[in-house]
Amino acid sequence: MEIEEDEERRRQRKLEEALEVKSLRRIISAYLNYPEAAEEDVRRYEKSFKKLPPAHKALLPHYPSKFKNLRRCISLNSYFIFTMLQAFEPPLDMSQDVDGCKDPHLENFEHGHCHSEERNASSCQSVSTSGRMCCSNHAQACSQEKSNIMSNPTTELQEVKSEQQHEPIFGSGAGEVENKNEIAECCSNDVADSNGNAFSSPHDWLDPSLQLNVPLVDVDKVRCIIRNIVRDWAAEGEKERNQCYKPILEELDAQFPNRSKESPPACLVPGAGLGRLALEISCLGFISQGNEFSYYMMICSSFILNHTETTGQWTIYPWIHSNCNSLSDNDQLRPVLIPDIHPASAGITEGFSMCGGDFVEVYNDSSQIGVWDAVVTCFFIDTAHNIIEYIEIISRILKEGGLVGWQVWINFGPLLYHFADMYGQEDDMSIELSLEDVKKIAFHYGFKLEKEQTIETTYTTNPRSMMQNHYHAAFWTMRKKRTTTT
Ligand code: SAH
Repeated sequence: MEIEEDEERRRQRKLEEALEVKSLRRIISAYLNYPEAAEEDVRRYEKSFKKLPPAHKALLPHYPSKFKNLRRCISLNSYFIFTMLQAFEPPLDMSQDVDGCKDPHLENFEHGHCHSEERNASSCQSVSTSGRMCCSNHAQACSQEKSNIMSNPTTELQEVKSEQQHEPIFGSGAGEVENKNEIAECCSNDVADSNGNAFSSPHDWLDPSLQLNVPLVDVDKVRCIIRNIVRDWAAEGEKERNQCYKPILEELDAQFPNRSKESPPACLVPGAGLGRLALEISCLGFISQGNEFSYYMMICSSFILNHTETTGQWTIYPWIHSNCNSLSDNDQLRPVLIPDIHPASAGITEGFSMCGGDFVEVYNDSSQIGVWDAVVTCFFIDTAHNIIEYIEIISRILKEGGLVGWQVWINFGPLLYHFADMYGQEDDMSIELSLEDVKKIAFHYGFKLEKEQTIETTYTTNPRSMMQNHYHAAFWTMRKKRTTTT
């Protein structure tokens, strides 16, 4: 009986892993499809241009050179993407045969939407796999894939690298923040699957023969990631970071005035995106852990955090993909240097980590109860199917008791529920509470509102675009009240 159960569990795990491989392969394919999809756009522009009557065409003599420039920008963006993929070391055995395992969800595409500032909202769709879709509407992060990027949340994702010594900038793992040696150990460069088998060559999975033809909406997510890079890692994103991250950092600084260097407070950042906020929190003197479930995001953040050698090492052209709301071609074709800082020399606090996986799956674990001094959510809480569950978990994982002024949840963002417009999938749910109700639920789970403010901000917006979507984001600090009397 027990043996049968073990066997069943093993089979289940294998199936889950195979599905993850399939999902990751699809994401890698989306990245690899980027040049072709972008080229297709330029071909479309050219086609329209050619249809112009000669007299009209003559008014735009610079257009052929614009197309040429667009192609040059696409190839430079592609160069960045390929370099990033080459540095990626999949945490899964990509050689697994998944053809035999058919997941109905993986085949099942459905419409979501993504408000893109410069596109027709309905033209940017998202796709659902395994019933878990996250096209971050406000975020344009458009990350979507299987809910769990790693079945084992403590599996290491990151490579060991830093300037002075071979120490990791960040490792990964939920909860307990590991000591240096452990991180270094887990982050060794050997690529091995969960059974410890090393792969023949770490880049077999980049073989073109394994490349899937992905729907164009997946490539849209790659474009969204490029915009996210500007938000987190370019000088152009500074204004937005000052709107969103700065108030959070100032609040953390004020809430933990006498934090010790020997034993820094621990701060969790669920939905960490490309990792800049988690890094800044680390630099502020916290043991910081970002949690992120999108491979699109994790591949990119890992690359920037672990593989950057100098400031401005790469040049990307984030704004080439839209001809709309542009003041000039020069604006559209302008280069953006990334990253604006060298992460390894930014002054991080030991124990910085990124944990891959679904927030609910990873942090609902009993090992996470009362572990964190602070939880920071930025443009995250509306990614929930069930926001009540998010709030319950945030409350559970915060420490109880301890010093006055600790155990805080700092939130920043709108309530643009990601699953609000998902219809058709029977097993999906989306609980869309008003701000008033969100606060009521938080009070129920033991929070007390300490500060509340509305802050106007953009999200991954082209600062030179004629269209600027603004959010009136809710910014609050809540403290977890003591529930036990001692
Ligand atoms: N905090 C970042 C990213 C916000 S977008 C910023 O301010 O820029 C929301 C992020 O949450 C996306 O990167 C998305 O992939 C991630 N996310 C959504 N649902 C998640 C979940 N259940 N667990 C972990 N991450 C999640």
